[in-house]
Amino acid sequence: MGNSHAKGKLFVISGPSGTGKGTIYHELLKEKNTDFSVSMTTRAPREGEVDGKDYYFVTREEFLANVERGNFLEHAEVFDNMYGTPKDAVERRLERGRNVLLDIDVQGGLQVKAAMPEAVMIFILPPSMAVLRERLEGRGTETQEIIEKRLSQAINEMKLLAEYEYYIVNDDLETAIAEVKSIVTAEGRKVPDKIKSIISKYEEE
Ligand code: ADP
Ligand code: 5GP
Repeated sequence: MGNSHAKGKLFVISGPSGTGKGTIYHELLKEKNTDFSVSMTTRAPREGEVDGKDYYFVTREEFLANVERGNFLEHAEVFDNMYGTPKDAVERRLERGRNVLLDIDVQGGLQVKAAMPEAVMIFILPPSMAVLRERLEGRGTETQEIIEKRLSQAINEMKLLAEYEYYIVNDDLETAIAEVKSIVTAEGRKVPDKIKSIISKYEEE
């Protein structure tokens, strides 16, 4: 058996808070060969969130120590808290041929694109600002003040849509999930990435 598997692909999923990234993302994780990257954050855990599963919840000091050590693929301050993607875990999984999904804000997305230009960049848009507001309020995990902050930030984030390759309007959830899955499938069938491993498989027979 040769070590002929191709590297996995990195998918960056961004979009305004409340647009449905987390919901879509959790559906995608049911696909085989797809892993979630657990981010580190200084934000307090929400009801039901588990340390090490949803996020690694750390103090600002611990977070900054990780920045110093160069442990992050990207990191950014979002809504007064720090968030970062641990680098080693992502690289190990890609090497093993796993696809990795990152649910990160646009500042982080742009850092990933600069560091790894082969990353597949997907932007999730809400059907309208009114629906975005309903979703944030309906989720009920933030105070009204924080919801207003997230809504006013949404427009700034959407202005960076041009930096992304794909966009999905999350109106009907099932449709949006199917569209993201079709992007993942199509990306997995691109020839330049896979040509070597496809041929070596035939050679090994
Ligand atoms: P994000 O991760 O982008 O902040 P969430 O995935 O938490 O957003 O979604 C915000 C809220 O909107 C949640 O309560 C979720 O159940 C709901 N939601 C997500 N997608 C849809 C959709 N297509 N239709 C209706 N509600 C949705
Ligand atoms: P929340 O606090 O609602 O879980 O996330 C708030 C925002 O932070 C979302 O836009 C989410 O995509 C982003 N985020 C989560 N983890 C990371 C990360 O590791 N890096 C960056 N840059 N953003 C993140």
